[in-house]
Amino acid sequence: MQKILNYIDGALVEPLNKTFIDNYNPATGAVYSHIPNSGADDVELAVAAAHKASKAWANTPKEERSRILVNISNGITAQLHELALAESIDNGKPLKLAEKVDIPRAAANFYFYATAILHEHNEAHIMENSAINYTLRQPVGVVGCISPWNLPLYLFTWKIAPALASGNCVVAKPSEVTPMTAYLLSQICIDAGLPKGVLNIVHGTGHNVGSAIVAHKKIPVISFTGGTATGAAIAAVAAPMFKKLSLELGGKNPNIIFADCNFEKMLQTTVNSSFSNQGQICLCGSRIFIEKKIYEKFKLGFVEEVKKLTVGNPLSSTSKVGAIVSEQHYKKILSYIDLAKQEGGTVLCGGASVKLSGENENGWFIAPTIIENLPFDCRTNQEEIFGPVVTITPFETEDEVLEMANSTRYGLAATLWTENLTLAHRMAANIHTGIVWINCWLLRDLRTPFGGVKDSGVGREGGFEALQFFTEPKNICIKL
Ligand code: NDP
Repeated sequence: MQKILNYIDGALVEPLNKTFIDNYNPATGAVYSHIPNSGADDVELAVAAAHKASKAWANTPKEERSRILVNISNGITAQLHELALAESIDNGKPLKLAEKVDIPRAAANFYFYATAILHEHNEAHIMENSAINYTLRQPVGVVGCISPWNLPLYLFTWKIAPALASGNCVVAKPSEVTPMTAYLLSQICIDAGLPKGVLNIVHGTGHNVGSAIVAHKKIPVISFTGGTATGAAIAAVAAPMFKKLSLELGGKNPNIIFADCNFEKMLQTTVNSSFSNQGQICLCGSRIFIEKKIYEKFKLGFVEEVKKLTVGNPLSSTSKVGAIVSEQHYKKILSYIDLAKQEGGTVLCGGASVKLSGENENGWFIAPTIIENLPFDCRTNQEEIFGPVVTITPFETEDEVLEMANSTRYGLAATLWTENLTLAHRMAANIHTGIVWINCWLLRDLRTPFGGVKDSGVGREGGFEALQFFTEPKNICIKL
């Protein structure tokens, strides 16, 4: 059985305690590999390696850093199929999705930041006839990056690429639930010529490895993507140490559909924005609000389209919906479907697990589920489920839908459907989220600020925001 290894100081190594955790294939429910059960002592080795490498990496000309990171990007592209297959087996997502979205985006993350650093400029503030100020942006040294399981390589690289590009060394932890592609990335980094110690990947649980990274005195910056409760726990440890934090957390995104929208376009995109990756994308719209005039038409069309989605083996090209990432998460989603029923919801389709046959008979599959007749402020409509479960709710006025859309503790993303430009701009300005898509979903330009408000997080990733996060500005004033 395949053994995943840590990547520390340029080498692939076992954890010091030589113990491993089972890694499951969610589509079969079977253990298929073993993950290092690393501890604080492995993190200590990684931090030491990163510190040893940090001065040389920070002083490496940006053209050379760029060249190495482009090599990594090319290495990912060269192994697109192998990485997509690994991601699909590890996470349960359809192979086609991993081939089309996850792995190309991981390559793009490296390419984007490898080339972005070539276009950076420094600011100068001139005090006429008296002084010149200029701003140096310097890497912070060693940064910690912790990522979740839903888009494993995609989100892992979204953090480490800007951190490395801006001259930092990194100690990173992928989710213990989906460690495989981060492990495969280690070898790609070695082959690409990344100097040893610049990137260190320590596998293991959040409890052992994640918290050791967050609490480490020599890691002054933490970039974290994951659940809101974990984000709060991290902030509690990091705040008294005055660490710089980027927290990308949970969501409960509204999808607001006005009667004048392009119905066909909206319907097809809404099926995707609800159930892509089994609804396990932080940007999926899980609360769908529909203007009353078209509610029945939408309901009929949406249920019909969703019933066509094939739940099946993620490796099969006909599967549109794959497996839920873990047994624990599968049970959590089913418990929310039960809660929705207790709260008076009507299940229009799905609402249960799906039992497949053959090698997938013990896999964790749930049918795409649509629920109606729930008040906007019930638990089902307020708490993050993070699975293939959406609710549909009619509205009559703009004010009413804004109140419902803004009613949760979260504020990550929103989607709006209307052909009325004035209404679209007004709504977009009044929705409490960090991202608004109008007549589209998940259309991403990597230069744009990415992140949420309220309990969906602190700070922004993306574009120069990330390069600024991973560097410290220093003002230098010269008297003329
Ligand atoms: P978790 O918060 O459970 O875990 C995220 C990462 O943190 C994992 O690597 C985890 O390790 C680690 N971790 C857990 N506890 C600690 C700790 N005390 N200290 C440091 N690290 C810790 O999130 P999930 O993996 O379950 O991911 C799903 C969540 O992520 C959802 O809430 C989703 O909305 C959110 N998310 C947000 C995004 C955004 O951009 N805003 C994007 C994608 C997801 P381990 O695996 O061992 O638990």
